[in-house]
Amino acid sequence: MTMLAQAAHANIQLHVYDFFSDDTQVDKAVSELSAAKEGDKLHVLIDEACFYDSVDPTTLIEELSARVSDLHIWVTSLLYAKVPSVLQREDMTVPLRSAPVVVREVEQGIAMARSAVLRYTHPVIPAPGDGLEVTRLFHCGVAHPGSSPVDCYRCGQEVADILRRFGVGTRVSLFTNGPSPLSYRDVFILTESDRLRDKAEDPIGRLRSQASDFVRGLRNAGLPVCVRRFRNCSREEMKDTALAITDQITVAQPLAVSGLERKMVVWLRRPAEGEWDDSTCYLDAKDRLFAVSRSSTQLVVVDAPMRHDRSSFNYVGCFVIAIVLAVFLFWFFYYPRFFLCVVGNFSYCEY
Ligand SMILES: [Zn+2]
Repeated sequence: MTMLAQAAHANIQLHVYDFFSDDTQVDKAVSELSAAKEGDKLHVLIDEACFYDSVDPTTLIEELSARVSDLHIWVTSLLYAKVPSVLQREDMTVPLRSAPVVVREVEQGIAMARSAVLRYTHPVIPAPGDGLEVTRLFHCGVAHPGSSPVDCYRCGQEVADILRRFGVGTRVSLFTNGPSPLSYRDVFILTESDRLRDKAEDPIGRLRSQASDFVRGLRNAGLPVCVRRFRNCSREEMKDTALAITDQITVAQPLAVSGLERKMVVWLRRPAEGEWDDSTCYLDAKDRLFAVSRSSTQLVVVDAPMRHDRSSFNYVGCFVIAIVLAVFLFWFFYYPRFFLCVVGNFSYCEY
């Protein structure tokens, strides 16, 4: 850390590489980073490396070592990668980003992920408070059409109401002598759903396809919104989101904002498919680790019932209830004396 602190006073350069989908980026990184050395010394801090099986960080590290004699390199996010033997492993288990109330929601995901992710350890210095209570909404009932919150215009409107209640974008703090009010840029709305879409227009501005109903609900409530889908963003959009340049709410898939954080996160929880089994737990755990953990202060959860439950009630459940009711009415009108005897006392039956 001392060396990093010394480096912090030196020449700091920001380089952005896409190791995930572009194999040529490793060669580019080796070339550019080695050219940035000062004398024989180079400090490299690679955050959110996104090395997976397809891209091995060993090549980058070995080739940099060959070109820079005094190389100091620190790499994060190697959980799913082959960690080169030259790197010393350190586990970072102290939650630093989020309030305790948010950390507990993430911990549920860690518990469901079982051994894949290390459990948190308690910080040496306790947090000054528990944080703001988690706010919960429900995508449920006849007013909420669509199979999930992202397909629901009403959910968009209700989330817009919640954001206003928290004073987002109003420039007025809810607390006397409290923290500064939230801006639109302080908010992430995250959903893993593939159905997240922004509107598309042709070159002359004619609408080709509509945005997701949830996004339309937010916009029609007067909120400035941008949509970010994983691996479907331009470099300008990525930079704009990473640096929160434009004052707008970002509705995104979690991997599109990997490594970023916001004061407020609204999590559109995916409806469970069928039973609450291992695969459902895995998906919920994944969302908690990748989406909920983006929140530093305030968490809003839009919950959704299981699709299994909704379909059972709408179709099978209603059909069974209708059959039972029809049999009962038939019995009541054609054998009323029998009905009265049963309701009263069997001993008075004379039929
Ligand atoms: Zn809804």
